[in-house]
Amino acid sequence: MRQIDHFISGGAGASATRFGDIMDPNNGGVQARVALGDAAVLERAVQAASAAQPAWAATNPQRRARVMFEFKRLVEANMDDLAHMLSSEHGKVIADSKGDIQRGLEVIEFCCGIPHVMKGEYSQGAGPGIDVYSMRQPIGIGAGITPFNFPGMIPLWMCGPAIATGNAFIIKPSERDPSVPVRLAELFIEAGLPEGICQVVHGDKEMVDAILDHPAIGAVSFVGSSDIAHYVYNRGVANGKRVQAMGGAKNHGIVMPDADLDQVVNDLAGAAFGSAGERCMALPVVVPVGEETAERLKAKLIPAIEALRVGVSTDAQAHYGPVVTAQHKAKVEGWIQTCVDEGGELIVDGRGFKLQGHEEGFFIGPTLFDHVTTDMESYKEEIFGPVLQIVRAANFEEALALPSKHQYGNGVAIFTRNGHAAREFAARVNVGMVGINVPIPVPVAYHSFGGWKRSAFGDTNQHGMEGVKFWTKVKTITQRWPDGSPDGGNAFVIPTMG
Ligand code: NAD
Repeated sequence: MRQIDHFISGGAGASATRFGDIMDPNNGGVQARVALGDAAVLERAVQAASAAQPAWAATNPQRRARVMFEFKRLVEANMDDLAHMLSSEHGKVIADSKGDIQRGLEVIEFCCGIPHVMKGEYSQGAGPGIDVYSMRQPIGIGAGITPFNFPGMIPLWMCGPAIATGNAFIIKPSERDPSVPVRLAELFIEAGLPEGICQVVHGDKEMVDAILDHPAIGAVSFVGSSDIAHYVYNRGVANGKRVQAMGGAKNHGIVMPDADLDQVVNDLAGAAFGSAGERCMALPVVVPVGEETAERLKAKLIPAIEALRVGVSTDAQAHYGPVVTAQHKAKVEGWIQTCVDEGGELIVDGRGFKLQGHEEGFFIGPTLFDHVTTDMESYKEEIFGPVLQIVRAANFEEALALPSKHQYGNGVAIFTRNGHAAREFAARVNVGMVGINVPIPVPVAYHSFGGWKRSAFGDTNQHGMEGVKFWTKVKTITQRWPDGSPDGGNAFVIPTMG
């Protein structure tokens, strides 16, 4: 059986005694196994990182940027292979896997400009003969812990800025689809990155804890579910590390009475069901404003949802593929039952969906609920599957309160033709990323990504200037070049600039 090993110091390394199964979501079998590492494996990676990092940090930023340019070229040249690899382990359709990698590559494009964005600040003549300047220096060794749902984009969110700014970076990908991050690390070496600067260690909680406890790792970036994010944040910070930990989501799409409903239905179908709903920026809740809007929307949504094509990830006509594992399928179907039990009106039921020829695959048909209310557990919690819940609101204020009061605050969208309503909504909603007639408002690479409330712990976002800040420390130098004449100041009084 194919085995996915750690990638340490430029090659497959370290023997393993524990392994995890990598499933084939299209067919239901085990397709490979991944080594599950421990503190000893991590130690080897940290040793290699410590040996390589000083010279990498001393490499001038333009040369570091050249590695990013070449890496981008190589990823583009290998896009088809990477997308097939990603789809075969995750289950998302090939076009969506290409999008997953492309969104990550856009962060690498930003990192090609690292010489410009790492320029420091300088104040000449801050006092007599005194200049002050500040510079950004790498943390040293950084680590990333990533979820299963974007095995291309999220590792690239982290390793791009971490490496470009001069750090050594160790990634611990999801043990459910770890092959793409390993391939990306190989391509970095091919692009000219020194060995030890981008490494991959695999594992579960044991490896995560080893990372959080290792004294040589100065910064940890995590993306995953909220309870684990909170745990990672607390343990990492308690150990004196810089930590950013992105968590789960339950994003709402507000539909105002004046919205273009055909466009909204098209947007919702993609945002709720694309990638089988396994996106932290999916729109699993739609909030029509007013009963009349709700009825019109429902009438258009039902046929659109029933027309969705569920297929294997290589089916170019499929709108979405299977979910990642049998356990995840059971969990999503469990939430559908919970919503039924809680009184949600089940309009389209995706349970029991079987794809001919792939009866053992982890497929779930699209599911639609109406009359979901805020007291239901299935509304409060993240389902992370192809399930859309309609929560009706009587007016704008009621609609605004729903995402604002929800425990998660990752993304939200409003659909309207009314600029004033959109502006008011964007200003007042208690959520980190807002779309105005944009269903999935994932910010472009040179802005930054981050939710609020239980969707993110820590105060720095991913990528853009926030990423540069996260992976660097600021050093500020105050220099004086006296002209030789005595300054006559009182050395016992705190110096001021007069
Ligand atoms: P997960 O929390 O199960 O796993 C994420 C990472 O944590 C993996 O690398 C995993 O090995 C590790 N992990 C799992 N259990 C652990 C434990 N007990 N202790 C320590 N580490 C542990 O998440 P997932 O199922 O892979 O991904 C889906 C989740 O990620 C969803 O909640 C989704 O909303 C969230 N997500 C959030 C964002 C964001 O930016 N906010 C982006 C993508 C996904």
